[in-house]
Amino acid sequence: MSNEGLSLTLNTSARSEQVARGEGVQHERVIIIGSGPAGLTAALYTARANLNPLVIAGYELGGQVSLTYEIENYPGFPQGLSGQELVEYMKAQAERFGARIKMFSAVTEVDFSKGSPFWLKTDDGTEYLADAVIVTVGATARRLNVPGEKEFTGHGVSYCATCDGFFFRDQNVVVVGGGDSALEEALFLTRFAKRVDIIHRRDTLRAGATLQQRAFANDKIHFIWDTVVEEIIGDEKVRAVRLRNLKTGEVREYPTDGVFIFIGHDPNSDLFKGQLERDEFGYIVTDRLMRTNVEGVFAAGEVQDRIYRQVATSVGQGAAAAMSAERWLAEHEALQQPSAASR
Ligand code: NAP
Repeated sequence: MSNEGLSLTLNTSARSEQVARGEGVQHERVIIIGSGPAGLTAALYTARANLNPLVIAGYELGGQVSLTYEIENYPGFPQGLSGQELVEYMKAQAERFGARIKMFSAVTEVDFSKGSPFWLKTDDGTEYLADAVIVTVGATARRLNVPGEKEFTGHGVSYCATCDGFFFRDQNVVVVGGGDSALEEALFLTRFAKRVDIIHRRDTLRAGATLQQRAFANDKIHFIWDTVVEEIIGDEKVRAVRLRNLKTGEVREYPTDGVFIFIGHDPNSDLFKGQLERDEFGYIVTDRLMRTNVEGVFAAGEVQDRIYRQVATSVGQGAAAAMSAERWLAEHEALQQPSAASR
């Protein structure tokens, strides 16, 4: 990634000319793609910097966090609050300073290849040019796609041990998956749960050796090998999983209070393939200042964070991306002004 200086070239392509002629392309100073904690924080900061940001929010305000029943580790809310409440507060705060949040609209195409202003198009056919872009489209926890999973999400089915583990004190839970995330989260869950069964579809783990050793040494952790979850069963909340042993074909109902699913996470970065540098897992590569490899395009939150994946860290990254975008725009615009000497 080039972090050297700012060799800025305004794109004077046909698209800019379209804007100049007012041909239906909306010109914005900053567009934020995504409305999770990183995006809404970037909106707050850019709004307070008088950049009049536009957030293209997607179809679910808040993204993943809005699925979380209760957040107890977000500072400032000692009683905890629901993910939905938190994003509503974040939205209201950003709007108070002038951020515009366009709901039920998703970016379907981008062209960052010609530099600033960057071209974007949404699924309602609107085209935009943005002087700077902040990408905060998040990641999606992979789903098992079995009956009961959707129905009991937030009622015993979870994709976040840090968020929900506390609610399973002295209860029995199962963890699905055999990778680093599954083992790490299972170990975390042993702080609360009475018993943690890791259900893995093979008889060897994908997770690294150290995590394996720690999991095997933990008395609360047990393994159910060669097995998949076929159904999640419950009434008001989860009470069992239907398991199938892939070697023997045996099907059985296994009682449990909670199902934690860690079968991988995918950053929602496909839209940026060929436009922004991504790592081997698809995460957008950023530097310390949240800059991508394209000058004027920044990224924050889980689309670029493979490690922390917390609301608190996403908020910090969103603030940092907004401050970097603000500084970049100021330098960019200064370079576009003819100097007094050359007038
Ligand atoms: P992962 O490494 O892709 O592991 C996913 C696990 O889920 C695998 O064991 C896989 O089984 C299983 N799985 C996938 N689809 C499934 C399905 N439909 N039904 C049942 N099981 C399914 O994902 P991850 O654990 O989230 O890790 C992602 C990346 O982050 C990895 O590179 C990992 O090393 C890294 N990470 C590192 C740390 C750490 O270093 N502390 C912590 C977390 C994550 P198979 O094994 O049979 O494919």
